[in-house]
Amino acid sequence: MLELDACTRCQECVDACPVVRAGFPDGAMERIAGWRGTGTRSTGLIARLLLKSPSGSDLTAIFESLFRCTTCGACSFVCESAISTTSLWESMRGAGRELGFRNAAVERIAESIGQMKNPYNAAPETRTAWIPENISIADLATVGFFAGCTVAFRQPELGRAALRILARSHTDFCMLGNESCCGSFLFRTGSWGEYQDTIISMIQDFEKRGVKTVIFSCAGCLKTATIDWPRVYGRPLPFKTMPFSVFLRDLIREKKIWFSSPLSRRVAYHDPCHGGRHLIHHLGRDWVFEAPRDVLLAIPELELLEFMENREGGVCCGAGGGVKIGDPDLASIIAHEKIKSLPHMSAEILASTCPFCRRNLGEAGATAGSQVEVLDVIELVDRMMDAEKL
Ligand code: SF4
Ligand code: SF4
Repeated sequence: MLELDACTRCQECVDACPVVRAGFPDGAMERIAGWRGTGTRSTGLIARLLLKSPSGSDLTAIFESLFRCTTCGACSFVCESAISTTSLWESMRGAGRELGFRNAAVERIAESIGQMKNPYNAAPETRTAWIPENISIADLATVGFFAGCTVAFRQPELGRAALRILARSHTDFCMLGNESCCGSFLFRTGSWGEYQDTIISMIQDFEKRGVKTVIFSCAGCLKTATIDWPRVYGRPLPFKTMPFSVFLRDLIREKKIWFSSPLSRRVAYHDPCHGGRHLIHHLGRDWVFEAPRDVLLAIPELELLEFMENREGGVCCGAGGGVKIGDPDLASIIAHEKIKSLPHMSAEILASTCPFCRRNLGEAGATAGSQVEVLDVIELVDRMMDAEKL
């Protein structure tokens, strides 16, 4: 209620919202006003005297708009009252579920995560099929690698690139014996209550393996482990969470990998919301914004391009918050806006550090007939790096 009351209706959030830019009346301001009004009408003095409860249509409009929200956090960044909108949206979605407002696509995915431990309804025993046999993964190590469901079931080439880098840089690392979904989708959609045991067992497994740092190739998993896992665990995690790009930058600084061939290409970097803006206060600006740029700039002759709105002001790719699954058309509209700006920058490659951004922007680029190659920073490094031969 304090957060809701802090809204001054300044409209800054409306201008920043990619969903509003895509034509929906869904800014943070209207959602907050709607929720606050509903609360007042249902709990205020007059409402209590008249025994009124919020009408179904009031709430339906709010929850429909909530499921169109990518939880990108752009509204939070511009909010003059410093309202923590992303956590507000997640709490509201949870409250909505309790009130019976359910989104069919979201429920389907939540069920898959609960039963199959992944959002793709894939057989859990096939989860590690993407891992090449010639990569040596230790049982115990101070570095842990968390691949995530999207690598395991949809983008194995990204995971293999990450493993090749770890192997060729002689990094001693381990993985979980029984990796499961990090729970990101459940936290973003307010349905994580029954998933706590799975998260705790993954934390304990890393701890038993002696892991001090877990590196993540997925922005969604990174955010979830950094912010949501400690809430479930009830105390600080027994390890650090680190973006893969920070680990890459360390490998470059320690001269464990290097680039001897030039790449004379113009590369635009897209900041993933969940691995960037959402983590500034947890991991710091240097880790979330500068590390991937430093890695790209270490490649000789690569020219780094910035979007007009970048870093904490960066515009979402459109895939987050369950929107890619719940409203794929909207995810595509938002991604196309981003793709449209690339020719003005004369970009040849669009790089990011999140498999969801990679997929959504890559698909939008393909349907728009764009010649710009969409890649993860990990793939670019794998393609260009030199290291001691194994
Ligand atoms: S989190 Fe992003 S998509 Fe959701 S209301 Fe805020 S700006 Fe719009
Ligand atoms: S930016 Fe913040 S204070 Fe301004 S209208 Fe949006 S939510 Fe309200």
